[in-house]
Amino acid sequence: MFDATLAGSLPKPFWLAETNRLWPQWKAEGRDRETAKRDATLLWLKAQEDAGLDIVSDGEQSRQHFVHGFLEFVDGIDRANKVEMGIRNNRYTAMVPQVRGKLSMKGRAHATEARLARAHTTRKLKFTLPGPMTICDTVADRHYGERRKMAMAFAELLNQEAKALEKDGVDVIQFDEPAFNAFTEDAASWGIDCLHCAIDGLKCTTCVHICYGYGIKQNIDWKKTLGSEWRQYQDFFPALAKSRIDQVSLECTHSRVPPDMMALLGGKDVLVGVIDVASDQVETPEEVADTIGLAMKFVPKEKIFACTNCGLAPMDREIAKRKLQALGAGTRLARQRYA
Ligand code: ZN
Repeated sequence: MFDATLAGSLPKPFWLAETNRLWPQWKAEGRDRETAKRDATLLWLKAQEDAGLDIVSDGEQSRQHFVHGFLEFVDGIDRANKVEMGIRNNRYTAMVPQVRGKLSMKGRAHATEARLARAHTTRKLKFTLPGPMTICDTVADRHYGERRKMAMAFAELLNQEAKALEKDGVDVIQFDEPAFNAFTEDAASWGIDCLHCAIDGLKCTTCVHICYGYGIKQNIDWKKTLGSEWRQYQDFFPALAKSRIDQVSLECTHSRVPPDMMALLGGKDVLVGVIDVASDQVETPEEVADTIGLAMKFVPKEKIFACTNCGLAPMDREIAKRKLQALGAGTRLARQRYA
């Protein structure tokens, strides 16, 4: 009951990349960089195990960014000539690469880190990939002419990588779709179709993570404009409940998401955000257990997982570690309390 897991990303140590950045520059080159990525991955696996997490991840230590880390392995993209584009429905602008031709994989994207993580933990292993709609909201289209069409093309590539990750021994494949909360109607009308394409033929557990973004200033400012209740989830959760995705990871603690939104996911495993990623204040185990208790009003307890609201990548490393410990301790407390 109440397996503890994380959304996916963790801060990179100072010797691997710039700290406290969402899109940091690597510190080392060539072989040294590969060694540093490997060391950082092992360090975070140990920290997750020590914290008592049941489902662990590679912490995305081998990727510079949760979307661009995958796009590096895709052909048909001009990454040298980036252009400015408004993303997440113009919440902020970013310099993005351009899709200039038919998309295809250059080869495997994440074999090295997935196999490394698999070889070094006996816990369940989760691997994260960017969702097709979120990728489309993070690149400029100069080829497909229609977002939905380009998203489907990315979904096919994600499916290739996901099938290979399953063969590498990954237990859970999660697609990160923060763009669902920015384009809620598109999420229901075609975002979920693209996810179905991305999970086609998989036997492992599948998950979609939908949040209100990393704890960066642009997202915190945007949240202030969303009013006293954030009801974005209600536009597409009913469609997601009918989908073939097994699990939904959502934002809960310290957010203005009405907790009854969780009831719209009938039948799904719900990964409840019990750790805030936009605050350095470390949750107490009691607070974590309380949030799990709140979720129990809307989700059967055997369907509840304890998770973070989003990735911890831009956070201070020590605080992230203490947040993982709070997640583990709070989940253990909830098991005692609600058994
Ligand atoms: Zn997130």
